[in-house]
Amino acid sequence: MMNLNQETMRQVIEEAFNKTNNLRWQMAITRAAQELESNPFMPYDGHALIILSESNEVYSANGTCQCRAYEFGKPCGHRAAARLVARYNERSN
Ligand SMILES: [Zn+2]
Repeated sequence: MMNLNQETMRQVIEEAFNKTNNLRWQMAITRAAQELESNPFMPYDGHALIILSESNEVYSANGTCQCRAYEFGKPCGHRAAARLVARYNERSN
């Protein structure tokens, strides 16, 4: 787990969720939120979120990702997580 302010992150997640009507993105955001709570290995390098996936692959997620969902043009939790962390960082600075 990163050293996050839970309350700030909760707000960021809620806003992101309410901002979209796209069910797939909402699911991606939900997955990302769970991931951010449970995955201890998720450093943000200033540009992208580095995510070790359940299948032990390392994704560098920002506007793009290297996972299957992205390959098929679908929203993925990795990109959602990257966006959440970026928003969170903007707010914290
Ligand atoms: Zn992905």
